Parts: sequence; C-alpha cells; structure tokens
Amino acid sequence: MGFFDWVRRLWSEPMDPVTGHRTDQVTDLEVDGEGWLVGRGVRRLPSVRHSSLSVPTPIALMWHYTATDPGTAGSLAKRIQTYRSGHDRAASWHVCIGVDGTLWQSVPFLRGAWHCARGVVEHRRWHGDRFMWDYDVADSHRINACAIGVELEGHGKTFSNPQVAGAMRLLGAVVEAYQIHPTMAVLAHSHFDPSRRRDPGPVWRDLLPLLLRGAYNVKRLPDLSEFSG
Ligand SMILES: [Zn+2]
Repeated sequence: MGFFDWVRRLWSEPMDPVTGHRTDQVTDLEVDGEGWLVGRGVRRLPSVRHSSLSVPTPIALMWHYTATDPGTAGSLAKRIQTYRSGHDRAASWHVCIGVDGTLWQSVPFLRGAWHCARGVVEHRRWHGDRFMWDYDVADSHRINACAIGVELEGHGKTFSNPQVAGAMRLLGAVVEAYQIHPTMAVLAHSHFDPSRRRDPGPVWRDLLPLLLRGAYNVKRLPDLSEFSG
C-alpha cells in the first residue's frame, strides 16, 4: 500500500451519515492544564527557551521540518533545554515528531516557543461546538506569541507512517484543547519567511487536508489554499 493510500484509509472510517462527523475516537492524547501532552509516545524534555503568549491559549499551529536525519529528534530536544544568550541560536519549538512517532515536547502550549521570527496572524478561533466555520477576527499577533510550533524530524521529502500518525494524534489533541480554526492549523514556515525557509514543504502540504479531516471530525473543510503555501 502506498503512503497516501495508507493515510486515506485511516480517514475512510465510518462517518455519521447525517452530520458527516467521524464517530470514532480521533486521538488518544490529552493536553494538561499547563499545555503538556499526556499519553503514549510522549517524551517531555522541558526547555528554558520560551516566552509569554499574547493570547490566553494558542490560536494557530505552524509546521516545520528539522532538516536533520532520522534519529536526531531526541538530541535536538536535549540541546534546546538550555540557552546561553549570545552563544546559542534563539530557536525552540513545542513538539518535535520523530520518524519513529515519538512526540518530544520541549515547551508547554501555554508558553510561546521560538520557531518563527517573522510574521503575524489574525485572531480566529474555531467554533467547534457548533460544527461551523465561523470565526471572530479581533486583532493580530506575532507568530511566536500565538502559534504552536511543530517540527517534523527529517528533510521533508518523505514522512514515515508512525510520524504521520503522531502528527494526527497531536493535532487531534490540540484542536480539542484549544479550538484552533482549521485555516490556522496549516501555517507553513516557508509562507512567513520565504527567502530563508522551505519547510515543511510540498509533501507535507499535500498531507495536511487529510490530517485536518481527521482532527476536525468532518468530511468537508473550508478552502485552505490561501493558507498552506
Ligand atoms: Zn521552520
């Protein structure tokens, strides 16, 4: 079975014929009151590299890849536990998903990580309880002060099945916890810093609608093309 067939099969599970919502469980992960993931496959290595959010809870999620080889996620997470000003690059992220599916969390979601130096987004939140795509646009926020940063271990050309499954579980958990609007869960680093960054790249971009369909429990999504560049 090809990779994309595998992903599609994951989301061809039974739907409620009336509402179109998935009736099975989306994720087995939970988010605790501080914004730490709790569940199978999660490794917590707290980093000192974090700042305040400008919102009460995160309103967006940005995808990256590490541009490192498989098996490096753990050592990257260890490296960013400390920070020497003027010596270390000011970089961190909330979660790095290993090729083996391990979710290495460095920063809790209620703090801002240092994953995208540039860019602002408008404030939207998904009204998930009504299964509608309404949102409020109130004000704008810097990416690092409002968006969860997720790194995918690797170079962005291929993604392993456990890694994609880990991303689905993570996305399901944060959507449940913070009602992130679907158009805000597909932010790409390359979109905000195109002269310097290419991550997460076209392979991941093509996967995102499938990931979202599972996380949001619906068949149809709003047009995401504007956001996933
Ligand atoms: Zn990046």
